[in-house]
Amino acid sequence: MNDKKVRTRFAPSPTGYLHIGGMRTALYAYLFAKQHGGDFILRLEDTDRERLVGDAAQIIYDSMKEAGLMYDEGPDVGGAYGPYIQSERREIYLRYADKLIESGDAYYCFCTKERLDEMHKSGATKYDKKCMSLPLSEAKARVAAGEPYVIRQNVPTDGEYTFHDHVFGDVTVPYADLEDNVLIKSDGLPTYNFANVIDDHLMGITHVIRGVEYLSSTPKYDLLYRALGWEPPEYIHLQPIMRDAQHKLSKRYGAASYKDFINKGYLKDAIVNYIALLGWSPKDNTEKFDMDYMIENFSLAGLSKSPSIFDEAKLRWLNGVYIKEMTDEEFYEHALPFLNRVEYLKGYDLKYLASLLHSRCESFADVGDSKYFTDMRIDDGDLSVNLTEFMTKFDGLTPDLFAHAKNKTDAAIAKAMIPDLMRITKERWGDGLYPALEAYAAEKGIKKGAVLWIYRIAITASPVTPGGATEMAKLLGLDRTLERFSKALDVLG
Ligand code: GLU
Repeated sequence: MNDKKVRTRFAPSPTGYLHIGGMRTALYAYLFAKQHGGDFILRLEDTDRERLVGDAAQIIYDSMKEAGLMYDEGPDVGGAYGPYIQSERREIYLRYADKLIESGDAYYCFCTKERLDEMHKSGATKYDKKCMSLPLSEAKARVAAGEPYVIRQNVPTDGEYTFHDHVFGDVTVPYADLEDNVLIKSDGLPTYNFANVIDDHLMGITHVIRGVEYLSSTPKYDLLYRALGWEPPEYIHLQPIMRDAQHKLSKRYGAASYKDFINKGYLKDAIVNYIALLGWSPKDNTEKFDMDYMIENFSLAGLSKSPSIFDEAKLRWLNGVYIKEMTDEEFYEHALPFLNRVEYLKGYDLKYLASLLHSRCESFADVGDSKYFTDMRIDDGDLSVNLTEFMTKFDGLTPDLFAHAKNKTDAAIAKAMIPDLMRITKERWGDGLYPALEAYAAEKGIKKGAVLWIYRIAITASPVTPGGATEMAKLLGLDRTLERFSKALDVLG
């Protein structure tokens, strides 16, 4: 690396969401710049007018800032190399296109869509350079007369080109594999193939980090740099993130954007941490780390040469590790929007419920996901609890549920004890309830476990619950608790 200040960029098309793959590219570009005391730039590639979506740019700005990928320059924060939106740079591209035409590295092309279709139908795999042979004066006259045109790059036909990539090493591409791509479209806007070169150079980008789909076109870009008398940047091409061995992670098949995963109850720090691991591994194989660690430890040598598979189970696990490190208060704040989504939890003490669920969740969405609780394994590993049923129905109570061999309890003992439990509950509601039940057990000479068992079964109708007897009572509230005791007495006849 030379001693120029490192400048990297993230250049998404504003398509309406920040794809996880794009976010990983942004993350690596950010880490590399920050590690070298350099600048990280955001540029919007919006020259494909058909793909534009309304507030898409704002979604990108917000997602990046929220995830901690703060850019030093960009459309909404400004900078010395703007504008940072390609559609606002139209004149700049045209100026350089003119230069390339003058030097013979590009040419006007007037071929109609019909001719191009015809060409492809008859087996041609690339443009045949027909308009290359037009004298420049004639081409200019046709342009001046208002004939529609595009500007194409003039790529050599013989020979090959070799460039270096930090992930793929030396890459050689025969010119015969490359086409005379359109640089300026008929609407006067540049294609990616042109704009990326002009912008990366004018914005002083030293290291281009982008998807591997651009690897084989890189020789064409280098030709443009050289034709304009510029030095190409260094290249780092990244392998894609896959959904499985065959398919890329894509919006069409479920969650694929940063926001999708936030909505599924993952923490932004866990998402960023996880995507860092999709294509890069630190030397010490650490799996949980923060931005500072990444800035310090990121290295191009640690980038993967093969695609990575997005494993949501692993993200869940990692998110669970983050969740366990939170305080109950922090967990509650994050879980609240998810708890609020669950109709049947309305009217309950959600803060208290969150404290009971904290240790059992790997994602915030779990707090309201009844299916998750149905499948959840608790304590001894082979029982499960269904939160939905616990909170909504109370019709599963049968007298035999009170029977517990070790506690020496049964339906008759429960029936005799419940009036006392109701009285104690009314008198000692709150923090005093648990000690009052303990005292009651001591006074009656029975096991505390027996009292708590009868209490818990009576108000939950379930041998397994997300918490103990008084915790469940607190969650239900005094009125519901007493109501359930009365129902239990009805069941016990
Ligand atoms: N707009 C391109 C993309 O989203 C940018 C590629 C690049 O980083 O050069 O794939």
